[in-house]
Order: sequence, then structure tokens, then C-alpha cells
Amino acid sequence: YEAKSSGRNLVTYSPERDGGRLDRLSLAAELRYALTQDDQLFLELQPLIDLATDLPIGAEALVRWRHPRRGLLGPSEFIPIIERSELIHPFTQWVLDEALSVIGSWHTGDLDVPIAVNLSARSLLDRTLPGDIDRMLRKYRIPASKLVLEITETVIMSELEVVEEVLDGLRSIGVQIAVDDFGTGYSSLTFLARVRVDEVKIDQSFVKAMHHSVEASAIVNSTIALASSLGLRVIAEGIETPEQRAELEALGCTGGQGYGLYPPMSIDAATALVEEAADGLSGASAASGH
Ligand code: C2E
Ligand code: MG
Ligand code: MG
Ligand code: MG
Repeated sequence: YEAKSSGRNLVTYSPERDGGRLDRLSLAAELRYALTQDDQLFLELQPLIDLATDLPIGAEALVRWRHPRRGLLGPSEFIPIIERSELIHPFTQWVLDEALSVIGSWHTGDLDVPIAVNLSARSLLDRTLPGDIDRMLRKYRIPASKLVLEITETVIMSELEVVEEVLDGLRSIGVQIAVDDFGTGYSSLTFLARVRVDEVKIDQSFVKAMHHSVEASAIVNSTIALASSLGLRVIAEGIETPEQRAELEALGCTGGQGYGLYPPMSIDAATALVEEAADGLSGASAASGH
């Protein structure tokens, strides 16, 4: 029996034979529907800050799904399903469209607060992605530098040539590239040597273990040194405690993200936060006569 991915065929499928598969298929069908609705999928934004000044230096878009029966679902519950289906393309377009419409609505003056969007490894095999993103940036009249694309090192090496081609296309339109979860791939250094990026995000597992593991601490330390010698921004993810923040600052890490700084929040809350920070900046420079 071959289960088709179309939702209509689900009624003829026997759940006893493969319950897990049925669940995946029905979730996929429900996701396809959710993408056509405006009240199910939504983004939260988690601010990234400059550890020295506390000012926001970016915000990461994180998707959530308000499922009509299953309740609120986090990305780990449905991104893997999206990634294994043809939904990856419409989903990625949906996230980019939402994120760009938020950037277009922000009044942040001289404060530069780009929005970061996570890309699935599979999107980096899509040769039409750079052109699609270029069109969306024009549609919203947004400078490409306001968009950061987070990618992971888990791209399959045999496909690295296509990935490089897509990344070159993205770089040529001027969007920024960040390596997410840095250090968790099997060849982080090879990846950095082959792919030009603007930012490295130290995976939260290293930040968490930093205090009690010499290895984790050494990885954090050398990633900061590596990024700085390559002229890249470095962001520590998953900062939860003041001790972690202080230690990261002491090691020379300039940017941070984590529940201990700001949690992911609604678009409205993030908008208020970045616009207040921008107002404070322009107020301060007006007061000091600049
Ligand atoms: P990520 O890109 O590494 O995002 C960071 C995750 O860590 C987020 O989880 C965030 O809520 C969480 N986090 C932030 N600060 C802390 C902290 O201090 N402690 C801990 N324990 N966690 C923290 P979330 O929102 O559940 O997202 C999980 C992953 O799902 C993301 O990891 C990203 O890989 C993926 N994802 C989220 N949104 C999208 C999307 O729109 N598209 C794609 N392709 N993937 C997405
Ligand atoms: Mg990310
Ligand atoms: Mg991450
Ligand atoms: Mg991740």
C-alpha cells in the first residue's frame, strides 16, 4: 500500500498498520491547511543584544503553530514533517513574508535591528530561493542587509556544491548569513572554510556546559577567537544566567541571546522593545548634542 501525501487519501489508510506514519500524514495535511489560514501559524521574535550596551542588535523569528485541536505546538513538533514534504517551499515563503512585513513596519532610526529567519537545510538546495528572496525584499522595499538567514552546518557534504551556489546567490543580493548551532556539526571548521558567512551563533549546549566542562569552555573560547580573527560577529545562544553572561563577556563575546536576556515574544512586544531602544538612542544623542 502506498499512502499518497494528499489529504483525501487518508480515510483509506489503516492506522493500526502504521500509526506514526498516519500521524505524520495527517499533520502534514493539517499543515497544508494551516498555511492557507491566518490564525494558526505565527512568529515570535527573540531579541539578540549587544552584551556591552544591552541594545538590541537583531531579533530571531521563531515559528509556532496554534493547532485547533492539539494546542500550541513548537517548531520541533512540526518542522521535521515540513522538511520531509513538499510543504518546505510554501512554508519558507510564508516565514520570510511574515518576517519581512515586520521589518518593513519597524521605525528604528539609526538602530540597526535586522530580523533573522531560520532556513532548513533543504531550502539551501532550492536554486530559486535567491530570486524569490530578492523579489520579496523589493516588494516590501527592504534593504537586503536587514535580513539574516540562519543556516546550519548539517548540509550534506555531497550537496555542498548546490548549497554554495545558492549561498553565493544569497550573498550577491546582500542578505546576511549566520551559522546557527555552531559546533554541533561534524565539520564546523570545514564548513566555515568553504562558506562565507557574517555571523556565528555558538550553540546553547556549549553555553550551558561552560561552567562545569573544560571542553565546552574551550569550544566557546576558541569559537569567539576564530570568529574575531575572521571578522565575523559572534552570538552566544541560550544565555540563562548572569554568570553565563558575565563569563561570555569576559571571553570577548559581543552578542547574546537567551531566556536570561529576553525570551521569544509576540511581534507587538518585540516591536515596542526595539522602537523604545531606538527612541532612547536618538533621545540620548539629541541630549548630548550629536
Ligand atoms: P534555533 O534556531 O537554534 O533557535 C533557538 C531555540 O532556542 C528556540 O527554540 C528558542 O526559543 C530557544 N531558546 C532561546 N533562548 C533559550 C534559553 O536561554 N534556553 C533554552 N533552553 N532555549 C532557548 P524554538 O523556538 O523551540 O526553536 C527550535 C528550533 O526550531 C530552532 O532552533 C530552529 O532550528 C527551528 N525553527 C524555529 N523556527 C523556524 C522556522 O521558521 N523555520 C525553520 N526552518 N526552522 C525553525
Ligand atoms: Mg536559529
Ligand atoms: Mg540555535
Ligand atoms: Mg537549531
